[in-house]
Amino acid sequence: MNFLSDRIARLEESATLAMTRMSRELESQGIDVINLSIGEPDFDTPLFIKEAAKKAIDDNYSHYSPVPGFQELREAICIKLKRDNNLDYKASQIVASTGAKQALANAILSLVNPGEEVIIPSPYWVSYSELIKLAEGHAVYVKASIENDFKITASQLEKAINAKTKLIMFNSPCNPTGSVYTHEELKSIAGVIEANPHVIVIADEIYEHINFAGKHESLASFPAIKDRIILINGVSKGYAMTGWRLGYLAANQEIATACNKMQGQITSGTCSISQMAAVQAMLRDPNEVEEIKIMVEAFRNRRDLLLGLLKEIPGLKVNLPDGAFYIFPEANSYFSKKTKEGQCICNADHLCMYLLRDAHVALVSGEAFGDPNCIRFSYATSEDRLIEAVKRIRTSLDKLV
Ligand code: PMP
Ligand code: GLU
Repeated sequence: MNFLSDRIARLEESATLAMTRMSRELESQGIDVINLSIGEPDFDTPLFIKEAAKKAIDDNYSHYSPVPGFQELREAICIKLKRDNNLDYKASQIVASTGAKQALANAILSLVNPGEEVIIPSPYWVSYSELIKLAEGHAVYVKASIENDFKITASQLEKAINAKTKLIMFNSPCNPTGSVYTHEELKSIAGVIEANPHVIVIADEIYEHINFAGKHESLASFPAIKDRIILINGVSKGYAMTGWRLGYLAANQEIATACNKMQGQITSGTCSISQMAAVQAMLRDPNEVEEIKIMVEAFRNRRDLLLGLLKEIPGLKVNLPDGAFYIFPEANSYFSKKTKEGQCICNADHLCMYLLRDAHVALVSGEAFGDPNCIRFSYATSEDRLIEAVKRIRTSLDKLV
């Protein structure tokens, strides 16, 4: 008997989480695995945020919160959006969720009808395509190449839009490529969006604070299109709070109300303790939080280190990523090789499984991110571990024939 729905049969397991699961399985067997698969800061949550959570417990924040989050949190998010992004939103336009992932799911499920087209610049984060599948939307991929730093151009976007286009997924700084769109690039993309008033955009800005190129600029800061941007953000990456599960969206009132309704039937308000901790995170300018400055500086140093090491491997092609904590090299020069046992390394999946088995380094195949030539390194780990990881990878690659 098959009791499971067609929906779940069609859905892929999250590739990032699958690789991390396999890496943890090997670790539980006593193997020293270097996990460069999961994208999460290896830093601790800043102390003042932890103190706020402890206080929330003592103050008995133990009841259901309003579905879109406490008023206090939503007001603090509005303060953040004004301070960091010069954007005006009312608290009623904010929906706080169980991570940015749920904010994305709320928005996609509230907007996309079966068969409607959703444009995804590719490479893209693994969950975009799967959430669109859940909504029965039709994903249209617009390919960005390493030569253009994995960024799509305004004219590529323009060509992909048609009458059936409902939504565009936009992510800068980007997972898996680390790409950051410049002001000029954003402006020309905003121009295309302005010329297509039937299209809504999800701007996923979860890596806002991990930007080595300069100050983050939100797509919502172009006034002519602000009302059609659903801004997604959260505390997971910038505040080293992945496990707290606190993300949010800001959108026009109609969309925010719809997402609130969606969330009310699926999870209700997110964890009350995390919400009260996030209030304090939102109220502090991240440029003045020592722990965040130290973390972002460490990511920049690790990017430089890892990039230098990867450039020394002749079979890999790399570009300079300006944000997030990922490097996404092209590795297809290995795809015609074999292990010494005669197993074919035919694609990025095979290469990642080989490196996990042989080098005990966990990476993620580019397949799930829409670029089967690439493999993703998350450098959210110490410099020593990065050096050791590349050493092991080189040894394993050198064994291929
Ligand atoms: N968007 C992107 C681009 C991501 O990489 C992630 C992964 N953390 C998310 C959204 C989801 O973030 P969260 O952990 O807050 O759910
Ligand atoms: N977003 C992170 C990553 O890409 C965390 C895992 C996930 O939720 O996908 O690795």
